[in-house]
Amino acid sequence: MQVVDNVAALREARAALGNVGLVPTMGALHAGHLSLVEHARNDNEHVIATIFVNPTQFGPHEDLAAYPRDLPGDLALLEQAGVSLVFTPTPDLMYPPGYQTYVMVEDVAQGLEGERRPGHFRGVATVVAKLFNLIQPQRAYFGQKDAQQVAVIRRMAHDLNFPLQIMVCPTVREPDGLAMSSRNQYLTQPQRAAASVLYRALQEAGRLYDAGQRHPDILRQAMRSALAGQPLVAQIDYVSVADARTLKEVESTGDAPLLLSLAVEIGRTHLIDNCLLPLALNTPEGLSAALGRP
Ligand code: AMP
Repeated sequence: MQVVDNVAALREARAALGNVGLVPTMGALHAGHLSLVEHARNDNEHVIATIFVNPTQFGPHEDLAAYPRDLPGDLALLEQAGVSLVFTPTPDLMYPPGYQTYVMVEDVAQGLEGERRPGHFRGVATVVAKLFNLIQPQRAYFGQKDAQQVAVIRRMAHDLNFPLQIMVCPTVREPDGLAMSSRNQYLTQPQRAAASVLYRALQEAGRLYDAGQRHPDILRQAMRSALAGQPLVAQIDYVSVADARTLKEVESTGDAPLLLSLAVEIGRTHLIDNCLLPLALNTPEGLSAALGRP
């Protein structure tokens, strides 16, 4: 496995590889990231991973400085997972003095996380567009856990004519259902135990849907009451029942797949989770078809 931290070395190393699957990450890797690598390995000759804690996607009051970092540990995991090349740029390399070009995706980046974190998806779309240009992969792999991010990147790739496929991989969970996340490290032990309530809330609404309940407000209410039953949930940021393609809230349900999503604060940690309805859609094929392919 080769590790490069500058553009010339990246371009040279990439040129020596054929078909490439790209897995962009911010490091502090866990089994969720590694499942993206595994999918990428199955579909492509080579996997390129990137590790970059992207400053432009953090708000001024967010956890950029505190974000967990473990480069040696991450590189060991990526090597074991069969990655060919890792790109580890510095913020200065990606955004040198005088940098002033950004990518903004409109509607699909507005609600949910976009509303809670102004500027977040501008940072995400910009860095991912830069990585697509630098690496020119045939496919790029993203996790369902950040479903709105998938929708934003899909839209951006389509609108800007990037010649690649966006692949969506199912959320990898802890045994109690908590979606794996680098930010779970911030949780104290009681908070960690409480955090499984996100998954339970989704499951409860999902079971209602699969049993025939089609009223979005009843699904929203089911998620809210499950979350409200956990005293360590300091704040419910949102619960959402949206059209999986547009991410617009629905007032009635038809045949289109739905995305249930929610976000809470436990202590000062922002946790998100989501699932598609019907629940049977939460597979790589179901996700790739449903999550807003333009
Ligand atoms: P991050 O390092 O948090 O930016 O995540 C890098 C990629 O890994 C993104 O595409 C995430 O959606 C994906 N990812 C993060 N957590 C999980 C998880 N638990 N299961 C599947 N994919 C994940």
